[in-house]
Formats: sequence, structure tokens, C-alpha cells
Amino acid sequence: MSVIYLDNNSTTRVAPEVVDAMEPYWREQFGNPSSLHLLGQAARHAIEVAREHVAALIGATPREIIFTSGGTEADNLAILGTLAAHPTKRRVVTTAVEHPAVHSLCERLATQGYRVTFVGVDQIGRLNLDEFAASLTDDTAIASVMYANNETGVLFPIQDIATICNARGIPLHVDAVQAAGKLPMDVKSLGAKLLSLSAHKIHAPKGAGALFVGRGARLRSRQVGGHQERDIRPGTENVAAIVGFGEAARLAKQRLASDGMASVAMMRDRLERGLCDRVAFAYVLGDQSHRTPNTTSIGFEALEAEAILVALSERGVCASSGSACSSGSLEPSHVLKAMGVPQPLAHGAIRFSLSVETTDEEIDDALRIVPEVVHRLASLTAKRDYAARP
Ligand code: PLP
Repeated sequence: MSVIYLDNNSTTRVAPEVVDAMEPYWREQFGNPSSLHLLGQAARHAIEVAREHVAALIGATPREIIFTSGGTEADNLAILGTLAAHPTKRRVVTTAVEHPAVHSLCERLATQGYRVTFVGVDQIGRLNLDEFAASLTDDTAIASVMYANNETGVLFPIQDIATICNARGIPLHVDAVQAAGKLPMDVKSLGAKLLSLSAHKIHAPKGAGALFVGRGARLRSRQVGGHQERDIRPGTENVAAIVGFGEAARLAKQRLASDGMASVAMMRDRLERGLCDRVAFAYVLGDQSHRTPNTTSIGFEALEAEAILVALSERGVCASSGSACSSGSLEPSHVLKAMGVPQPLAHGAIRFSLSVETTDEEIDDALRIVPEVVHRLASLTAKRDYAARP
């Protein structure tokens, strides 16, 4: 059975060029980048080349890039590091739809005496900018707002948000994990002080990420150790993964300069339209005019996402849901809840996320398989409901 991988917001396949770039750093070039000998210096040089590529992807200077173990660590470092550097300021402003790397951290901070404001969104996931501006107070240490939502792909207007924050002198952290490589990005014109990236979302391996730390950002390290990454993130670097991250960033920038992910957006749109045409109870969730090119979230009314995912997987289609299936009770995600998506749609919400590796043939197959699966499940549900009637 061939696999149709439509779960690229979860992770991406490592590109062959990236595997090739990493290979020497697991084999002959195994030195510690802090060592002064030739093997150490070869590793150091490779990290600095990767830093240049990652910086170039977002319009930063190499010095502004701090490598981490991934997006979660970058998010945690940005928020906790800023709070530690501003001990008298006890408020964090964020949104109701952040990834758990920010959302759960902010929930924990709220139990530790910090005042946390979760600014709401409307039915299609747009941030209320007036509410956001009004929630910034003199005791706000940091605002943390994602660029692209991992579940719906909806984009927040980061430039406008940064203008609001900068006018108040409040550092803005942007979780750009789902936006980097999918949209052209220039941190200088965005105006954010801190910005998180993750390697495994752009066809590099898991275990590497980066935090952009712009000029004027005040940050205390979370870990204590050696002097790596300008003392901001001590610990021996994951050299091969960082080299892979650099190569993936170089490839992503090249791609953005050529077709800007337009072919991915065309496939996503064809999948989305095709599913809504073929399935009467399918609805697109989220703002369709401001989205990443690769993501669609579709609610299949009155079905359960977990059942759809299992049935799709049996047919070789890998997708994802916005529900916390693991608990047994299918709770819709905090993102769909914050959007006020009606329960029967939120319970059956499936995220399809494409990549540059997705093919037209895979979309053709998905357009055949997904409607078959959801129609079969709908007929089973109807029979079950009928049998359950008194
Ligand atoms: N932020 C967003 C928006 C994400 O989608 C993810 C991963 O899904 C993360 C942060 C966490 O990144 P990582 O898996 O590299 O820790």
C-alpha cells in the first residue's frame, strides 16, 4: 500500500540533500565544535555556515541566530528567558490559539503568580487586535503571538502586532515554526524581537531549532553550562542536525524565490475544493484568505476525528486532527474551541498539511479515498444512531 503523507505540519521527511549534507558529521567530521583541533574547527565552521543559511531564510544576521533543540525549546527560552531578564514585570500577553509550547507554558506561568492574558480570536481564527492592544499593560514583560497556526494555517498580522508592541516598548516573541519556509520572511520589517524556528518542519531532522534574538532583546539563559551559543543556550551543539537545518533553510529560501510555494497552494486548494464538492457535510475551518499555502482544516460534521484518522490510515492516508484523542474522550482542541467552532464540526476536524514533496497523483488518490472513508463512517453513524432510538 502506498502512503499518502498529508501530515507535514506534524513533521516532514528529511530531504535527500539534507541527509547528504549531514552524513559527514556523523562519520568522519565528528569533532566537538568547541575543540581547538582540526576536527573541532571543521564542526565549528559547519555550524557557522548553517547559521548563515538559517539567518538568510528569515532576513536576520547570523549573530542573531541561537540554535536550540527545536521549536519548543526556542519558545520556552524566549518567554522564560525574557521573564527572567525582567523580574519586576509579571504579565504575559498571548493568544488563545498558540501551540502547546507556548499555550501550556503560559497556563503554567498563570499558576506561578504571573498574570497571563489569552487574547481571543473570531470564528475564522482572526485575532482581535483592539483587544490585543488593550491587554498590553505597563507590567507586561513579553507578548507571544504565533505567525501561522499549526492546526488551521491561519496567519496573524505580525507586522501590525509588532507595531503595537514596539510602541509600548514590549518585546514581541513570534512562534514562526509553521510559517518559516512557507512564506517569505524578513524579521527586520516584521519588527519582532524574538522568533522561533524548528528544523523538522522544513525537511530537516528532529532535534534542532533556533531562536532569533534581535538587537535590544534582553534574555537570560535557562540552562547553565559552557559558553555555546553566546551563553544564551549552553550545551554541546547537535552538529549534524544543525548542518541539516542549514541545508534545509538554504533549499527553502531557494524554493520561495522560485515559485513561492504556489504549486503547493494549488494542490491544497484542489484538495479542499474537491472534498467540499464530494462531501456534503464537509466545511473548511479558518480564514481562507490568510493562510499558509500548505494547510487546510476540514470539519466533517457529526463524525469523530479519531475514527476518520484510523480509517484513513488503513487506506494509507496520513493526516491529523485537532482533537486530543489520546484521552479517550474526544475533546476538541483549544484552537477550535477558541474559534467557537460548533461541537459537531470540531469533533470531526481533520487537518491535511501538504509539502513540496506532495504530488498531484497523491491529491487525486486522497480525493478518491477520503470521501469513500467519510461516507462509509457517516452511514455507520446513521445506522448506529437509528438503532439507538427508543
Ligand atoms: N510551535 C508550533 C506552531 C508548532 O507547530 C510546533 C510543532 O508542531 C512547535 C512550536 C514545537 O516545535 P518542535 O516540535 O520543534 O519542538
